[in-house]
Amino acid sequence: MACTLPYYLFMSRLNILVVEDEDAIRGMLLMVLEQAGFKSSAAADAEEAQKALAENSPDLILLDWMLPGISGVEWARRLKKEPAYRELPIILLTARGEEEDKVRGLEIGADDYITKPFSPKELVARIRAVLRRSGRIQGVAQITLGDLTLDTEQHRLTIGDKQLEVSPTEFRLMQFFMTHPDKVYSRTQLLDQVWGRSVYIEERTIDVHIRRLRKILGEYGREDWVQTVRGFGYRFSLME
Ligand code: CA
Repeated sequence: MACTLPYYLFMSRLNILVVEDEDAIRGMLLMVLEQAGFKSSAAADAEEAQKALAENSPDLILLDWMLPGISGVEWARRLKKEPAYRELPIILLTARGEEEDKVRGLEIGADDYITKPFSPKELVARIRAVLRRSGRIQGVAQITLGDLTLDTEQHRLTIGDKQLEVSPTEFRLMQFFMTHPDKVYSRTQLLDQVWGRSVYIEERTIDVHIRRLRKILGEYGREDWVQTVRGFGYRFSLME
């Protein structure tokens, strides 16, 4: 069967800089970003953020409005005046929901403004929207292998015109498999790639998800696509 990998810019390559002085919120943000497939770096104030900016060349900054020292909004105003960073998207986070704050945030050049508390889902959707507007996510976010199509925008996995019922974890696992076909991965590698290092999961959990995927694909006679490589791990392949 012919395999085609159309042009696709991987979300996981995009890097988000989180600037937030509250440890708990910063930790939560980093976890949400990792689960959404982004790379991330973190800073607790504008000074640290300035260093991280030079070291990590982020694609977007999530910036808390109220920071000790130079405030987030002031740092954003300065950045937007520097030619090197003028185009770098900034999303301001704030605990204050007043309309005039929002106007001020957008006036200094922030690309969006999110009021705490917000849901992880809303945050990720806003980040993706800003990245798309700024041209950092390009092309159709679709991966096709044979008649299997994974759409990362709509979170849909289809065979022909039939939609497969997969959990969010299984969707990410399929996303990894479909972008890395015909290669063998150990359970540890799959844990790192799909679940991320910060999450503690037993290796057996992978086997459970693999069994579920096989069952789902098996309904279309495609259970052989998820292959066990004895003593090593798993491989996704459309070839026998
Ligand atoms: Ca703060």
